[in-house]
Amino acid sequence: MPELRKDPVIGRWVIIATERAKRPDQFSGQAQEAPPEKPCPFCEGSESHTPPEIYALRPKHTLPNSPGWELRVVPSIAPFLRIEGELERRGKGMYDLMNGIGAHEIVIETNQHIANMADLSEEQIAKVITCYIDRMIDLEKDKRFKYALVFKNHGWVAGGGSVKHSRSQLIATPVNPKRVKEELAGARFYYDYHERCVFCDLIRQELEFKERVILDIDGFIAISPFAARFPFEIWILPKKHACDFTSLTMPMRLDLGRIIKKALSKLKKGLNDPPYNYVLHTAPFRQPKVGYWKSIDYDYHWHIEIMPRLTRVAGFEWGTGFYICPLPPEDAAKFLSEVEV
Ligand SMILES: [Zn+2]
Ligand SMILES: [Zn+2]
Ligand SMILES: [Zn+2]
Repeated sequence: MPELRKDPVIGRWVIIATERAKRPDQFSGQAQEAPPEKPCPFCEGSESHTPPEIYALRPKHTLPNSPGWELRVVPSIAPFLRIEGELERRGKGMYDLMNGIGAHEIVIETNQHIANMADLSEEQIAKVITCYIDRMIDLEKDKRFKYALVFKNHGWVAGGGSVKHSRSQLIATPVNPKRVKEELAGARFYYDYHERCVFCDLIRQELEFKERVILDIDGFIAISPFAARFPFEIWILPKKHACDFTSLTMPMRLDLGRIIKKALSKLKKGLNDPPYNYVLHTAPFRQPKVGYWKSIDYDYHWHIEIMPRLTRVAGFEWGTGFYICPLPPEDAAKFLSEVEV
C-alpha cells in the first residue's frame, strides 16, 4: 500500500510509492547525457576568465585575481538578479512588482579541478563554510536584502553546467523566499502550540527510532526525512538548537565539514556519483519589524537539504505540490548508512 506522509514542518504531503518501489541499488547517477566539458575558468591560473574577486582566501603577499589562492568568490557572469539600483516597489493595478535587485555570487571551493565537493578535504569544506558565513554577514549589511540562499548544483541534470569544478552559489534576495517562509511559519506554528522547536523534536525522535538516521557524529545528524520528496534525500542538522547558521563556532565548522564530506561521499560511492542539489536554510536577515521574529531564536533551526536528482518532477508534482518518492526513506537511510566511506 502506498503511503501518504506529511512533513511535520511545512505540512507538505508526499506519496511514498511502495507499489512501484525500486530497490536502493537500482538507482544510479550515471544514466545522463552531458555536453562535452568546456575549458575551466575556475582553476588556479585562470583568474582573468572570471569577474574580479569579491572575497578570497589567499596569503597576504599575493595580489587579488592572481594565483596563490585557496578559495575565491566572484560575481556570477549571468546573474539572476543585479546588484546595482533601488528596489522601487510598486503596483500595476492588482500586480506587485519591483526591480530585480540582488547579489549573485559564485563560491569557487578549490583551486584544483575537482568536480564533487565529496572529494574536498573536510578542512577545505570548513573553509567553504566560513566563506558562506563571511559573505552572509557582509550581505546582511545591505538593507535592500532580506535573505541569502546558499545552494549547490552538482552535475548536468542538477543544473551544474558543463564545467566540472566544485562551486556553490549564493543569492541574496530583496524578499523572503516562499519556501523559506513556509518553513518559518510552520516552525512558529508548532512552537506556539508546543513551546518546543519542531526540528529539535524531530531530531530527538529520529535518534530514538534510528530507522532514518544515516550519520550521527560530532554534534550533527544526517537523516533521510520521514516525508522525503526524493529518493536518498538527506537533511543535515546541528543537534544543538540554533536558528542562525552564521553563529557556527570554528570547531563546529570543521565538524559540519566532516559530516558533509561523509554524506556526499556516501551518495557518490553508493549511487555512482549522482547529480544533486543542496540548499542551506537559515534564519532571514532580521530587520526590525513590529511583532516579527519574536520567537525565531527558539522556533527555527538551520539545516542543509541535499536532494539527489535521480527521478523527474512531472505533472502531478507541478499540479499538486505533492511529491512522489519511489523509495521509502527508511530503505534509503539503511542503504546509505551501510556504504563505507
Ligand atoms: Zn577547474
Ligand atoms: Zn531546534
Ligand atoms: Zn529546509
